[in-house]
Amino acid sequence: TEKNREGYAPLYDPFETFFSRYVYRRVQHCFNRPISSAPGAELTLKERCTDDRNWTFRFTGTERRCINLGSYNYLGFAGHSTHDEVAAAARRYGLALCSPRAELGTTRLHHLLEETTAKFLGVEAAIVVGMGFGTNTLGLPGLLGPGSLALSDEKNHASLIMGLRLARATVRVFRHNDVRHLEQLARAAIAERKWTKIVIVVEGVYSMEGTIVPLGAMVALKRRLGLQLYLDEAHSVGALGPRGRGVCDHAGVAPADVDVLMGTFTKSFGAAGGYIAGSAKLINWIRQYGHAHTYAHAMSPPVAQQILAAMRLLDEEEGRRRLRALRENTHYFRDQLRRMGVVTLGHPDSPVVPVLVYTFSKMAATVERLTESGVATVGVGFPATPLNKARIRFCLSASHSRGQLERCVEAMARAVRELGLDYSRQPR
Ligand code: PMP
Repeated sequence: TEKNREGYAPLYDPFETFFSRYVYRRVQHCFNRPISSAPGAELTLKERCTDDRNWTFRFTGTERRCINLGSYNYLGFAGHSTHDEVAAAARRYGLALCSPRAELGTTRLHHLLEETTAKFLGVEAAIVVGMGFGTNTLGLPGLLGPGSLALSDEKNHASLIMGLRLARATVRVFRHNDVRHLEQLARAAIAERKWTKIVIVVEGVYSMEGTIVPLGAMVALKRRLGLQLYLDEAHSVGALGPRGRGVCDHAGVAPADVDVLMGTFTKSFGAAGGYIAGSAKLINWIRQYGHAHTYAHAMSPPVAQQILAAMRLLDEEEGRRRLRALRENTHYFRDQLRRMGVVTLGHPDSPVVPVLVYTFSKMAATVERLTESGVATVGVGFPATPLNKARIRFCLSASHSRGQLERCVEAMARAVRELGLDYSRQPR
């Protein structure tokens, strides 16, 4: 990019070179697709077409109803009838509190949600934050500082990486889910005798991989070596374990054995925001030193109400039914994909099901073919994945009927045939 007369680079790349224009359009074409309905088991996509004269898109005015395999609506609470209670909360408190929690931004719903979240997870206390991403980026600097060492899984989410950078902690990365590599790094760090604290930072379910953290082994290691454990359950809370309590529930680990339980409400609960949960002392500390409580807008009250309603349902027969449906749908869909010979990644219980298509062009073509067949899904490529590991990411939901999933399987089988995605019969 061109520098100005004084030699300074521009603030941003205006996408004016051919290559960046091309990439921009490719990317725009399979991502950022506007929807005009709730992201339930089905959703409505607004159709667009490219306008070659000025490299942009035009809406065609038509809409396409698709089965939705792209949203993280694991338990089907997006667009659910809890919305009567949510509307009542909006009428009473409004949508915004125009204040952080520490000033005039705390309502009865926030207290209730914090108590309920702690009880739901089986720990002493919780703090809730208006944004999931900000829960990590603002929470981690409250716990780690320049003398701290974070041992971070290589597949950790951007919000964890950014939080660790903001904390100015030293970060060493271990191979994904590799407890032996983690132990090597931990032992080497202990031998250095210079760290004020050593914290293992991992996720429950990894959203690009569909893998599940080996939590039992991690807890055993951190106990043996006297380390701490920070666990991000954005994709596992609500969705995993016989009671939907997340990866502790799935692995049979006591929640109190994890030092910091973090999660978001944006997936299983069909809401927004995040939480940090653990001992009462931890939460008092985060309230003081995690910047979210003091400097960021409080969670919107109707959002808090939505989460409360979803948590209440999860403790009733309705919740158990949804958890069973999610598990059955996940197993059915993974099974069908395996039969097609595509390369699926991850744990059999993970409702995120990535399918490797390797190249960016196959990723874009698959997303387009599926959309034409009435299946909305998400392609993921570089930089979220390695350059040659582009994938399609399917997200299962308790709200999908078997008939809907059968239609998705048919559409995928067609795309596999037409685009050559059956890598079981091809050299990779
Ligand atoms: N942590 C993880 C592991 C995530 O995958 C995400 C987002 N998908 C976040 C944190 C950020 O959460 P939110 O989207 O709720 O801001």
